[in-house]
Amino acid sequence: MSESHTPTLDNLSHESRKFAPSAEFAAHAIAKQDRYDAAAADRLGYWAGQARSVLTWDTDFTQTLDWSAAPVANWFVGGKLNAAYNALDRHVENGLGERVAIHFEGEPGDTRSYTYAQLTTAVKQAANAFESLGVAKGDRVAVYLPMIPEAVITMLACARIGAIHSVVFGGFSADALRSRIDDAQAKLVVTADGTYRRNKPSALKPAVDAALAAPGHSVQNVLVVKRNGQDVQWTEGLDKWWSDVVETADTEHTAVAHDSEHPLFVLYTSGTTGKPKGIVHTTGGYLVQGAVTHRDTFDLHPETDVFWCTADIGWVTGHSYVTYAPLINGATQVMYEGTPDTPHQGRWWEIVQKYGVTILYTAPTAIRTFMKWGRSIPDSFDLSSLRVLGSVGESINPEAWMWYRDVIGTNAGKNGERKEHPAPIVDTWWQTETGAHMIAPLPGLTVTKPGSAQVPVPGIVVDVVDEAGVSVANGEGGYLVVREPWPGMLRGIWGDMDRYRETYWSRFEGMYFAGDGAKRDEEGDIWLLGRVDDVMNVSGHRLSTTEIESSLVAHPLVAEAAVVGAKDETTGEAVVAFVILQIEPEAGVDPVEVLRAHVGKEIGPIAKPRTILVVQELPKTRSGKIMRRLLKDVAEGREVGDATTLADNTVMAQIVESMRK
Ligand code: ATP
Ligand code: MG
Repeated sequence: MSESHTPTLDNLSHESRKFAPSAEFAAHAIAKQDRYDAAAADRLGYWAGQARSVLTWDTDFTQTLDWSAAPVANWFVGGKLNAAYNALDRHVENGLGERVAIHFEGEPGDTRSYTYAQLTTAVKQAANAFESLGVAKGDRVAVYLPMIPEAVITMLACARIGAIHSVVFGGFSADALRSRIDDAQAKLVVTADGTYRRNKPSALKPAVDAALAAPGHSVQNVLVVKRNGQDVQWTEGLDKWWSDVVETADTEHTAVAHDSEHPLFVLYTSGTTGKPKGIVHTTGGYLVQGAVTHRDTFDLHPETDVFWCTADIGWVTGHSYVTYAPLINGATQVMYEGTPDTPHQGRWWEIVQKYGVTILYTAPTAIRTFMKWGRSIPDSFDLSSLRVLGSVGESINPEAWMWYRDVIGTNAGKNGERKEHPAPIVDTWWQTETGAHMIAPLPGLTVTKPGSAQVPVPGIVVDVVDEAGVSVANGEGGYLVVREPWPGMLRGIWGDMDRYRETYWSRFEGMYFAGDGAKRDEEGDIWLLGRVDDVMNVSGHRLSTTEIESSLVAHPLVAEAAVVGAKDETTGEAVVAFVILQIEPEAGVDPVEVLRAHVGKEIGPIAKPRTILVVQELPKTRSGKIMRRLLKDVAEGREVGDATTLADNTVMAQIVESMRK
C-alpha cells in the first residue's frame, strides 16, 4: 500500500448472519446455478437466448449487441416486436385469456379485476382512442394518474402505437408536471379527476389545469378518467372524458411491430440529487431484462403466484415491475391505490391475506414504518401465502431485513403459527437508469445476508473500484460501476446526450458510474453504502451513511435514522445524525449519549456522531428516500435548499425549528 493510499470507503459494519434457502424452496426454484454458468460461458449468447424465450418477436434480431456507438447501446439489432402484444394479446392467443392480470383494490375498498382478455380489450380501445386524438408513433404522452388500472392501460396503449409515455408521479406539483411536459413536448396528457388519500378525495385535475394555464405548451388534448367523482374545471376543446373517448372506442386494434430500439418511455428521476433527468428506455432490451429478472429474482411461477409490487407507476419500479414485466410474464398481480394506514394500519396485510399474495416487493422505508407501528398488526393477519419478499429503493438496514424475515416471512397464520422456513428476502439494487435489477440474490440459490444485495444478476457485470478505476480487494469499499453494457440500460437523457455521457460515462474510462458507494465483503459479496455524494470524510476516514444509519436503527430506541457529514474545524467533517425514536427513553436516560456510545461500540469510535438530533420526521422524497442533502444544509447551518420534491414540505421547517430550541 502506498503512503498516500486512502481507502475510498471504510468498511465498518460487522454484520455476519447468513441464511441458506430451504431444500424445498431450492428444489422448486425457477433459476438455479445454470443461469450463472450459461451467462459466464457466453454472456451475449445468454441474453440472446433469454430474449427469444421471454418475448415473441415479429422479426428476429440479427445481432445481440452493437456497442460501436458506445455509450449508446443497440440491443437485439434488427429485431421487431410490440410491447403490448407481448404483455397481453399473446397470452390470450395462448389460452390464458381468463387468467386474472390485475386485481385492483381502491383505497375506499372498491375492487375490479381484469383478466388478460379484458385488459387486452381495454388497451386496444385506448390505442384506438389515442390515435383518434392524433397521437402517432414517436409522439410523447404525459401520464398523471393515480394507481388505478387506467394507468397501466394508458402506458400499454402508448407502447402499442409506438407513442412514448412520460409518467409523472401524481403527487408532483403543477410546476413539476409542466416542466416535464415541456421537456418532452407532450401532445396528450392523461389524468384523472382525482384519487383518494387517507379517506379523502385528493384532486389531480387542478394541477393539470394549473400546469397548462400559461400558454406556449405542446398539449393538444387532456383525457380525464373519472375516479373520485369530484368537481372539475373544464376547458372546452382541450379536456375530454376517458369514458367518452376510450370506453366507446373500437375494441379491435392490430398491433404493429416496432424496432427493438424504438423508445418505449421517458422517465424523470426523482430528483434526490439535482435537476431531474429524462431517462430514455427503448423496447427490446428493457423488456427482456425486466421479464428475466422478474422471473428469476422473484422465482415467479405465473400459474400459481400472486405478485404485488407496492411501488407507484410514477417510479421506475412501477414501470418495470407493475406495468411491464409481470404482464410480459403472464403473472397475476395486485394493484393498490391508497396509503398503508387507511382505514387502518393493517391494510397491506389485509390485502395480502385477501388475495393470497405470494410475492411482495416493497421498500425499506415501508418496512421501517411497519416496525414502528408494531408487529402485533401484521401478526393479526394470515400471511402464510407469502413465499418471496423483495426490497428496493435504498439499502435495507440489517435490522429491518431481520424484521421482514421474522415477522412477515415466517407468518403462517393469524393465530401466531410460524413457518419453519421463512420466505427468502431478495434485496434488489438497480436504478431508473438500469431499467431492471442489476444486483440481487437468486432466492433458491443464494445464501442471503441481511443488508446486502450481494451478487450481480446473471449476465450483468458490476464491479467496485477505487478512485483510479481499479477493482478493490475483498473487504474494501469504493465506487459501484457496471463494466459491460446490459440490455435494460438507459439509451440517453431526453434531449441532452452530452449530459448522459458526462453524468455516467466520464468518471471512469469505459465504465458506467452509478453514483453509489459499495464494498465487497470478505466473500466478495456486494453491499451498497449510499450515494457517493453523501460519503463523509472524518479525519481522513471515508464513512458511509448507510452503515452508521444501520447501526442506529439496530438500537431499540431508534425507529429511523439519517446521517450526514457537516463541516468541522478539527475533523474536516463530522457525523451528524437525525433520529426518530421508537420508544420514549426511561427517565434519566439521555438518548443522545446512549446512541453515541452504541455507535462507538458497534462500529468504532471514528463513526461516533458528533451531534445527534431527535426529530419527529425525516425529509423524504415521495418515493420514500431520505433527502440527506437538505439535512446537510441544516447541519451546516445553511438556508435549506430546494425541497420541492419532498413528500411533506413541512418536515424541514419542523427540523429547523427543533434545532433552535
Ligand atoms: P435521482 O437520481 O434523481 O437522485 P434516485 O437515484 O433516487 O433519484 P432511482 O433511480 O429511483 O432515483 O433510485 C436509484 C438509487 O436508489 C440507486 O442509485 C441507489 O442509491 C438507491 N437504491 C436502489 N435500490 C437500492 C438497494 N437495493 N440498495 C441500496 N440502494 C438502493
Ligand atoms: Mg439516481
